[in-house]
Amino acid sequence: MGSVMKTIFEKIIEEELPAEKVYEDDDVLVIKDRHPRAPVHLLIITKKAIPDIQSLQQEDLPLMGAVFAVAKKMAKEFGLEESGYRLLINNGPNAGQTIYHIHFHLLGGRPLGPMG
Ligand code: AMP
Repeated sequence: MGSVMKTIFEKIIEEELPAEKVYEDDDVLVIKDRHPRAPVHLLIITKKAIPDIQSLQQEDLPLMGAVFAVAKKMAKEFGLEESGYRLLINNGPNAGQTIYHIHFHLLGGRPLGPMG
């Protein structure tokens, strides 16, 4: 917590809002995106409420490593290892970030096209 206004993701983590959870450990929660942009569209959310990349502290870097380990695991579980997938963060207004609680989108299950 820490902030006065909880984000949607804090509410999901604290089970004040429902979500389709696919993985959880002490540091990370993975849910299905409510508006999937691909056959597989997961959100890998840190349980620690960090608003964005610019807010990351040195002490958070191991957590980012943990997120990559979870992404790798999810890619395997959802059958994306061979076909490939996209792992991305929308950071700030120009990237279209809507929820200021750091999260990675994991997208796959079809060709995703070029970025941009
Ligand atoms: P971003 O735009 O990168 O901040 O991503 C926020 C994502 O959260 C969007 O893809 C939304 O579809 C998704 N989203 C918003 N609310 C929920 C929710 N309650 N459950 C699951 N996904 C959500």
